[in-house]
Amino acid sequence: MDPIPRRLRSRPFAVVALAFAVVFASAVPTLADATPQALESNTGRLTLMSTTDVHARVLNWDYLADKPYAPARGLGRISTLVNQVRAERGADSTLLIDVGDSIQGTALGSYYANIDSVVDGAKHPVATAMNYMRYDTMTVGNHEFNFGLPVLSEFQKQLDATLLGANVLQHGTSTPAFAPYVIKTINLKGNKPIRVGILGITTPGSALWDRTHVSGKLDFVGGLETARTYVPKMRAAGADVIVAALHTGLGSDSSYGDQLPYPENFGTVVAEEVPGIDVVLAGHSHTNVPQRFVQNKQTGRQVLLSQAGSHGQVLGVIDVGLQKVEGQWQVTETRGSTCRPAASRTTPPWLRWFRRSTKRWSTTSTGP
Ligand SMILES: [Zn+2]
Repeated sequence: MDPIPRRLRSRPFAVVALAFAVVFASAVPTLADATPQALESNTGRLTLMSTTDVHARVLNWDYLADKPYAPARGLGRISTLVNQVRAERGADSTLLIDVGDSIQGTALGSYYANIDSVVDGAKHPVATAMNYMRYDTMTVGNHEFNFGLPVLSEFQKQLDATLLGANVLQHGTSTPAFAPYVIKTINLKGNKPIRVGILGITTPGSALWDRTHVSGKLDFVGGLETARTYVPKMRAAGADVIVAALHTGLGSDSSYGDQLPYPENFGTVVAEEVPGIDVVLAGHSHTNVPQRFVQNKQTGRQVLLSQAGSHGQVLGVIDVGLQKVEGQWQVTETRGSTCRPAASRTTPPWLRWFRRSTKRWSTTSTGP
């Protein structure tokens, strides 16, 4: 069990700590305070939470083996951790980001694509779960294209979070098929709000792997080229912090060799080559990378890379500290970690609803 790290410049706050110690006795060895942020007029902070490659794990239940996963997985368990971080950091100073590959990977994902399809009006359990958890953005992953565009489109309609994909273009045009980025506002008491730009880019491999679904409909262009295009636009649009939520690994290799003009993986390259990015959230390769720093070649600044494993086993928790210089927020410190939910008997209310609906089609026990 990896505890939630103390946030940047945190202070002990005994009453809150005691309250949480009772509720999350085994989960929280240390607690940050719940004091409103920006006590000093020239500093601010925010926390990013991230998941990636959830692959249709909502309940901690392996439908094929008919037993719980070991180690435990799923958005249900992650949601308890998300609530805990929101309670500790203050919900208004956190953002929740998924880095893609959410709807495919279990019988659950296949069922709601092919049997009781979202295209025919079914409510997608992953969209439902993500809505309950109040995700801000999700980057489209390559496996989102596996069931064809109508299923993805319906999932997108049901999802409250913005589905991002700056390098996925309408075929034969330069028009993005998904929102390239969003800028979220973190309001501070008595201080200038912090504006956080979240850029979503996916691996271009879908052009090859899902050719039957996307050929003649969507084009996929390079991750590095796309980041170079959008980061300056986001800064010009007022982003104080830039988070690149990249459905791609941290390496620079490609499983498809030179069959496509753009590499499959580019997470580290983007951080090194594109000036102005503060945090890279990676995915796709299912690796757990709590924190890694690389230096941007142009600015010399350290860029934080973090990747939250897969299957809802861990939650990425990234603290960002800022200082206001001549009226502008600037990132001064970033710290990343990935946290595993503590064993808990608590079932989130939304998951109780979900378990009832799941029993509609599953004859197996749905487990805790
Ligand atoms: Zn992937």
